[in-house]
Amino acid sequence: MTEKTNCIFCRIARGEITSSKLYEDETSFAILDTNPIRPGHTLLIPKKHAASLADISADEQANWLKPLKKLCAAIVEGTGSEGFNLILNDGRCAGQVVPHLHLHIIPRQTNDQVDFNWAPQPYPPDQLKKTFQQISSRL
Ligand code: AMP
Ligand code: ZN
Repeated sequence: MTEKTNCIFCRIARGEITSSKLYEDETSFAILDTNPIRPGHTLLIPKKHAASLADISADEQANWLKPLKKLCAAIVEGTGSEGFNLILNDGRCAGQVVPHLHLHIIPRQTNDQVDFNWAPQPYPPDQLKKTFQQISSRL
């Protein structure tokens, strides 16, 4: 049994498990999340099994995300929403439960009571400069 055999999103891609498939092309597909944060919560998924963004090439990433703009517009319009969040949980530490890359598209409305519990805080002294260096030196 390989990862791909058991993987829930690979199984949906192969048609072994039913889903509400909103979109499909050669490289990606989009389904309604069965446990939505809000109605219309959608997952855009590459067909190729990969757990992390680090595991696909830049071309594969581009193909996967090609339908994103059209999908977001359809979701916002179709659900009568005003905006949306894009969320990619990459790694268990980031809340990834299904180890097959996927992008959450969550339609939003003013005062919709959705709360991601973010607690932004300013950098301590010198930390911003250090962090900037650590990241920019790798790009
Ligand atoms: P994550 O925490 O980013 O790995 O999110 C995985 C998401 O997949 C969750 O929001 C689940 O509700 C969703 N999910 C799991 N199984 C299915 C399924 N069979 N069809 C649609 N969505 C699913
Ligand atoms: Zn998979």
